[in-house]
Amino acid sequence: MTGPVEAIARAVRQGEVRAVEVLAEHLGRIARTEPDVHAFNLVTSDVAGRQAEEVDRAVAEGRDPGPLAGVPVALKDLLCTRGVPTTCSSRVLEGWVPPYDATVVTRLAEAGAVFVGKTNMDEFAMGSSTEHSAFGPTRNPHDLSRVPGGSSGGSAAAVAAGFAAASLGSDTGGSIRQPAALCGVVGAKPTYGLVSRYGLVAFASSLDQIGPFALTVADAAMVLDVISGHDERDSTSLPGAQPSASSRLGRGVAGLRVGVIAELVGADGMAPDVAARVEEAAAALSAAGARVEPVSVPSVRYGLSAYYMIAPAEASSNLARYDGVRYGLRKPGADITEMYTATRSAGFGAEVKRRVMLGTYALSAGYYDAYYGKAQRVRTLIIRDFEDAYRSYDVLLSPTAPTTAFELGAKTADPLTMYLNDVCTIPSNLAGHPAVSVPFGRGTDGLPIGVQVLAPALGEPVMFQVAEALEAAAPTGGAA
Ligand code: GLN
Repeated sequence: MTGPVEAIARAVRQGEVRAVEVLAEHLGRIARTEPDVHAFNLVTSDVAGRQAEEVDRAVAEGRDPGPLAGVPVALKDLLCTRGVPTTCSSRVLEGWVPPYDATVVTRLAEAGAVFVGKTNMDEFAMGSSTEHSAFGPTRNPHDLSRVPGGSSGGSAAAVAAGFAAASLGSDTGGSIRQPAALCGVVGAKPTYGLVSRYGLVAFASSLDQIGPFALTVADAAMVLDVISGHDERDSTSLPGAQPSASSRLGRGVAGLRVGVIAELVGADGMAPDVAARVEEAAAALSAAGARVEPVSVPSVRYGLSAYYMIAPAEASSNLARYDGVRYGLRKPGADITEMYTATRSAGFGAEVKRRVMLGTYALSAGYYDAYYGKAQRVRTLIIRDFEDAYRSYDVLLSPTAPTTAFELGAKTADPLTMYLNDVCTIPSNLAGHPAVSVPFGRGTDGLPIGVQVLAPALGEPVMFQVAEALEAAAPTGGAA
């Protein structure tokens, strides 16, 4: 049995199907198509087999096997898994095996999930196509000549290809939502602090969040509910209980106020078929009873520039720990400085080096105010503009990515064209707000298009409520 999380968990819990059978079916698909797609850095059949057997034992003995009983889940390869290599798709972590599980991994396991593998990604989550992986790119299951998006491309492709019913990714500037859009699946970035990052390898700590990929909106909300909640091991984890992400599903959108972000629909490089789908999505919400109108959120135009200062600055600091002493790779040198240099030169790929250099420069004494300081001020403006917009609207709408999936190699030569993929997703990271990408029809090339629903901090319930209405109204096939 494959398909939605809800259906698998229900069938396994009721003893209609065994978790080991569900797993066998998914491993069968992996055996057939993974060589073409390359969604995984590692397929963990042994771990999965043990977990599935344990779920089946619980069902047989009348114990509660958990809400995700027997659901095959894939994990982005920057989530620490005890005893299982975690590479961040980087050579610098070669040979490193984490001695502990990330909190999200523990929570999924306790809920009865079955881990099928660690997914490929852009090295240290820096990229938008999964081409910056030290282990080769992932391909889009809808068209193998195209990228799956990134940086969580492997996690998006794994769900789109039916290798897993759900997966986890991380989103610093769009790395869940953009690949979800390009692969035709649902992908959500939660509010900053809702999901513990204990055991997530850090990229840019003021932006990083872990979130789910799934085939349906309800599934994404369900997985999010399992992984969210306070964790004393993450100092940025929100205290107290938060409302369930699923709590407003099934209510329709009558009376809700929806603003369509004019600056993002009209962003440079926005493909006409993508913009047309967003207008159709807006019309569908309006037909379902929401009050929909365009809204201006002026400073989102500067989000991309601010992000590409702040994220590299934080990355340059976070990645200082890969020094040949503490983790993974070590290349010998005559003294410690030579050893550091040799290790980092050999261990990091070009994009990671570019970010470390950009970030170090932006933070250097003479330039700090002009670059990093200015970017932080832009961040404050974006937060204020969103606050203004949310005084009049419950949620906002925009495209997720400017185009459908592009050809492999199309954007690797020019970093800036790659960065432009993130123009619509970055503002939510800078503000710390949640956002979800929902598949909404296809483009003129027949490839999936995603529409993004943005909500204020802790607005997950209304965000998924609107996302569900879009899912119900999504055109099936055909061009925009
Ligand atoms: N594509 C963006 C970047 O390269 C976002 C990555 C992410 O969200 N991890 O930084």
